[in-house]
Amino acid sequence: MGLAGYYRRFIKYFSSIAKPITQLTQKNAPCIWTEACEDSFIELKKRLTSALVLIIHSGKSNAAADALSRKDAQKEDQGIQKSVEMVKSGHQSEYKVSADDILYVNNRLVVQNVSDLKQLILKEAHCSKYSIHQGGRKMYNDLKNHYWWKHMKSDVTEYVSRCLNCQQVKAERKKPDGLLQSLPIPE
Ligand SMILES: [Zn+2]
Repeated sequence: MGLAGYYRRFIKYFSSIAKPITQLTQKNAPCIWTEACEDSFIELKKRLTSALVLIIHSGKSNAAADALSRKDAQKEDQGIQKSVEMVKSGHQSEYKVSADDILYVNNRLVVQNVSDLKQLILKEAHCSKYSIHQGGRKMYNDLKNHYWWKHMKSDVTEYVSRCLNCQQVKAERKKPDGLLQSLPIPE
């Protein structure tokens, strides 16, 4: 099976299993880590762990996202593969390739350019039961210890700005507090 076929097959099964998650990452969808999300995450993990070397970060919850973005998943991205080849041929760059051919930049895993996958990582970082609606800066600072992709920072900012839950909290905070405002000035 060629690379394109592999890619299509990956996307096809990824899309169907990840549906509960990707549906919730669509515009204006509530940021809720449902049981369906958890189920599809577990299913994805199960399918991928048989093919991948799973490296779990010290009990972190992003093991599944890690699995998704590792070795085999990276292979579908021609841009990543090009960089891997360049590093291996001795070309100097900020990229590094691990012993098992995984591309890193400054110790951050290079995530392939698959929108659903990036959304999945963002959703897990923001909405899962392991995180509590982190603000954009905090979320980015956490994520950037593990991942890299182009425009990751603006993707994080956009993701948080689209979160209805966060919008609501912000609006609540902005409400003027009548009592405080009407306190008399002591003479
Ligand atoms: Zn939020």
